[in-house]
Amino acid sequence: MSEHTAFIGLGSNLGDRLRHLAAAREALSEWVTVERTSSVYETEPVDLPDQPWFLNQVLLIRCALAPFALLDACLTIEHRLGRVRSVPKGPRTIDLDILLYDDLIIDEERDGRHLAIPHPRLHLRRFVLVPLCELAPDRKHPILGRTMTELLASVPDEARVRPYTAPGGP
Ligand code: ADP
Ligand code: MG
Repeated sequence: MSEHTAFIGLGSNLGDRLRHLAAAREALSEWVTVERTSSVYETEPVDLPDQPWFLNQVLLIRCALAPFALLDACLTIEHRLGRVRSVPKGPRTIDLDILLYDDLIIDEERDGRHLAIPHPRLHLRRFVLVPLCELAPDRKHPILGRTMTELLASVPDEARVRPYTAPGGP
């Protein structure tokens, strides 16, 4: 059984956001080993500004799943947690994005699903790079050849990203 390393980005801006992140981690562990988790950040919406702020987190996982099988697991979990795709870029109970998978580069359509790795907007989003830098500051982007720290230093996105403390306690 070959083992792969991947980074998954989680995001939620509807309902009990922290609970949704936890439920996604639990569900993922049915398929993969969640090795490390970043802190949780509260982040200003980027693409569609008029919606609630997000909670975002990045996970380092190990798995035997091929890339499209991992995508299917992510889509299944989104569906299970009640995500409804109504407005593109709009509010969601949970979003799971495959950010990196080994050093794989792929942009492919298969059986009606599209998969691009590295995630095409990874290097443009502060809310992805801040938690990713916690877990893998020296890891190189397989296409751009720059480390996550270097990408964060030059990210154009100015949307606010701040550490999240749950109401009622650290
Ligand atoms: P976004 O995450 O950019 O806000 P969506 O979550 O609505 O947008 O987009 C989901 C679609 O993106 C999925 O149906 C999936 O096929 C496609 N997709 C392409 N590459 C990836 C990836 N690396 N991780 C997750 N979904 C991806
Ligand atoms: Mg997504």
